[in-house]
Amino acid sequence: MTMRTIQTEQITEAIKELCIDANFNLSSDIYEAFDCYFKTEKSPTGRNIIEQLKENADIAKQKQMPICQDTGMAVVFVELGQEVHIMGGPLSEAIHEGVRQGYREGYLRKSVVKDPFFRENTNDNTPAIIHYDIVDGNNLKITVAPKGFGSENMSKIYMLAPSDGIEGAKKAILETIDKAGSNACPPMVVGVGIGGTFEKAAFLAKKALLRPINCSSTVEYVRELEKELLEKANNLGIGPQGLGGTTSVIGVNIETFPTHIAGLPVAINISCHVTRHSTVTL
Ligand code: SF4
Repeated sequence: MTMRTIQTEQITEAIKELCIDANFNLSSDIYEAFDCYFKTEKSPTGRNIIEQLKENADIAKQKQMPICQDTGMAVVFVELGQEVHIMGGPLSEAIHEGVRQGYREGYLRKSVVKDPFFRENTNDNTPAIIHYDIVDGNNLKITVAPKGFGSENMSKIYMLAPSDGIEGAKKAILETIDKAGSNACPPMVVGVGIGGTFEKAAFLAKKALLRPINCSSTVEYVRELEKELLEKANNLGIGPQGLGGTTSVIGVNIETFPTHIAGLPVAINISCHVTRHSTVTL
């Protein structure tokens, strides 16, 4: 495989475009889910809200403005081919600069504070949260997933015992969805990470939110689990915007990973009806 050189300027430009695109254009899987759940929603109020969510996404797309006022903290997933040579400066700085430019030029709300206690706004939405993965090949794949905190705050991690098993995991996931309720701006998308260590499970839960909600897991028992939890979550009665109904969750995506003999980490990353992600491959 031939080595490729990618300039940091190209990366900054790509990140800028992704920040704007993700905030203006709702992913097609979520948009299609609105149509699908509009047909099955039992509550008239719920149907009305789904229609409004769709109209809101349409206006954002037509007028090229944010789908939601909370334009999120920029979470960036990078798959860097090991045959890629980055030229022009540090990769992380190029990514932060892209976020800075994207949030400025897209007039996106700057929602990041410098210190978790003293809370001075950084005024450019940096730093981004960056996850790197070194992969085979000579491409650079970048996904920007702006994350709103109404739903992020409702996320949980459980360090279960192996004996809690699948039933324990189901209980933890449904409990978290139920507690999230209207605070997570439902209908929600739920990313779940099971296995690994404490931080790996949380990472997997976040990564699970990148998978389109119309793509089930490739592992048979996980696929069944996703289906069962989606059905059970929609029986909780939370409904669109928490006003009651049968559309509380439009997607449950689960990722699993090997873990330690003594543990069963289960992380649940709650996301909202504005679950955003845009990807480019350079
Ligand atoms: S949770 Fe989602 S829909 Fe609610 S305010 Fe935040 S980004 Fe917007």
